[in-house]
Amino acid sequence: MASTLAQAKHPDAPWRTHTVFNQVPSLEGLNVFDSNVPLVEAVEREGAGWVRERASALGAFVGGEPQQWGRLANENKPVLRTHDRYGHRIDEVEFHPAWHQLMRMGVEHELHCLPWRSERPCAHTARAAMYMTAMQAEAGFACPITMTFAVVPALRAQPELAAQWEPLVTATSYDPRSIPAAQKGSAITGMAMTEKQGGSDVRANTTTATPLNGGGAGAEYELVGHKWFCSAPMSDAFLVLAQAGDCEPPALSCFLLPRILPDGSRNEFHIQRLKDKLGNHSNASAEIELHGAWAQMVGEPGRGVPTIIEMVGHTRLDCVIGAAAGMRAAVLGATHHAAHRSAFGKLLIDQPLMRNVLADLCVEWEASTALAMRLARAYDEAHADAEAGEHDSDAQLFKRLATAVGKYWTCKRTPNHCFEALECLGGAGYVEESGMPRLYREAPLASIWEGSGNVISLDVLRALARSPRSLEVYLAEVELARGADARLDARVEELKGQFADAGSLESRARRVVESMALCLQGSLLVRNGPAAVADAFCASRLAGEGGLEYGTLPAGSDFEAIIARARPSL
Ligand SMILES: Cc1cc2nc3c(=O)[nH]c(=O)nc-3n(C[C@H](O)[C@H](O)[C@H](O)COP(=O)(O)OP(=O)(O)OC[C@H]3O[C@@H](n4cnc5c(N)ncnc54)[C@H](O)[C@@H]3O)c2cc1C
Repeated sequence: MASTLAQAKHPDAPWRTHTVFNQVPSLEGLNVFDSNVPLVEAVEREGAGWVRERASALGAFVGGEPQQWGRLANENKPVLRTHDRYGHRIDEVEFHPAWHQLMRMGVEHELHCLPWRSERPCAHTARAAMYMTAMQAEAGFACPITMTFAVVPALRAQPELAAQWEPLVTATSYDPRSIPAAQKGSAITGMAMTEKQGGSDVRANTTTATPLNGGGAGAEYELVGHKWFCSAPMSDAFLVLAQAGDCEPPALSCFLLPRILPDGSRNEFHIQRLKDKLGNHSNASAEIELHGAWAQMVGEPGRGVPTIIEMVGHTRLDCVIGAAAGMRAAVLGATHHAAHRSAFGKLLIDQPLMRNVLADLCVEWEASTALAMRLARAYDEAHADAEAGEHDSDAQLFKRLATAVGKYWTCKRTPNHCFEALECLGGAGYVEESGMPRLYREAPLASIWEGSGNVISLDVLRALARSPRSLEVYLAEVELARGADARLDARVEELKGQFADAGSLESRARRVVESMALCLQGSLLVRNGPAAVADAFCASRLAGEGGLEYGTLPAGSDFEAIIARARPSL
């Protein structure tokens, strides 16, 4: 105190060690939608221009207070309370109020339900833009928002359950109380597939389901078993896989399991512990046990995987959107920092080598954003076809294949992208308050969840084997750009050759899927992106003129034009 007073009185006092300069202005208050140029363009291009005003309003909001919610929800991790003070089992997870604010924001902005409620065209595409925008505050809350969004198509396999639950899961009010969902008028949902002995290999599930009154689709069962990962364990209901005992032999089936029973009592759903995770700290991920939990079968007995795969597909879409969202946050932080920080007599953004790094990061983000938004439109088209009674349309085949390809590639590219963006901030990037460590810790998750790298690559092969026409449809989309860039054309020809030796395809799967992703991204950028971005992408990603790390674009790339699209204009 004495020294502060002395400094105030004597600003030139010798113990006044420094003034703050060469630091970066705060980004608080930035409209995180309007400033995301590739996203704004993609919304129009992919047919959801009608959402622009809404997304802009959300972008203005998310750039303000929710930035603090994201920080607070991560700094104050959820806490498990297994028992009350008297020893009764309660299985409650306590969250910081900031978590609930994030959840409320997500639900009130219809991130979990827009396509299921809206009559407007391209509502999946519109939602993708809103979701990407909201994720600029925080990624963890996107997990339950995604699962609530994704449960709807799976629920529809059981019409009477859908009639009961769909109005709840698509409601736009958020209510975290532990009371029956019907009393709240809304519901958040999760999913529990992974067990200790098998995650990717869900058919190894050992949880059993015993019929209570005859069994069959829609009937009541009692579930006994464990789940090794169950995120958002305070959700109102979960889709769960279990071996139905009334099948001979017992067969994996899908069930809807409410956490609180209709009479207000707790279901036999017990949270054993919360995972101590690398990142995603705002969200809780639990190990649970089911001690005779009450559930209802969704879909036909033994059809558990095909039923829940409807949910899984939509969560994978969100992994791609989420990857692009993470990259947006990374390039925003990196370009902003470099535009205001000097070293060796120049702003970092004017240092030739830093320009290369920033531009390379921007190219990756542009490619991921273009892919995510095109994929979202494929969901719109596929749903429209399904409503018209078509179940093997080009849009459906493209959606199926491009989801797996896109998830593999964009999620794989995210962690290193985030690391390089972090490094652009130097030491400050390694410090929590820059926000970069939070992004970095989150970055590997989407690649592991819902089909880890190998499994999702093999899923691409499965989709190709099941429907050889899907490759034709995929290539037709890619070849919409034929003739526009010789480097892309050559790479597509090379890709076609990769399918020749079917015998070695499995061990080459990552390489093949990578090529498929790059060709699609290249095609989208050549057709729709700015020339500078498309050129740098084709040179570095398709023609072998780039290196293994970011910052290795050819020297002739138009760095300035590429970076300008990412930099916020403050
Ligand atoms: C933060 C977090 C939250 C999660 N939340 C949930 C949740 O809410 N609900 C839920 O059900 N699950 C959840 N999971 C689990 C997640 O979906 C699984 O971890 C994932 O599916 C992988 O399963 P596993 O961990 O059993 O790994 P494994 O299946 O054992 O796989 C290990 C590795 O082997 C590879 N592999 C597997 N099979 C093959 C093969 N045939 N050929 C080559 N390689 C192969 C995989 O790609 C992976 O790299 C969560 C996971 C995390 C990290």
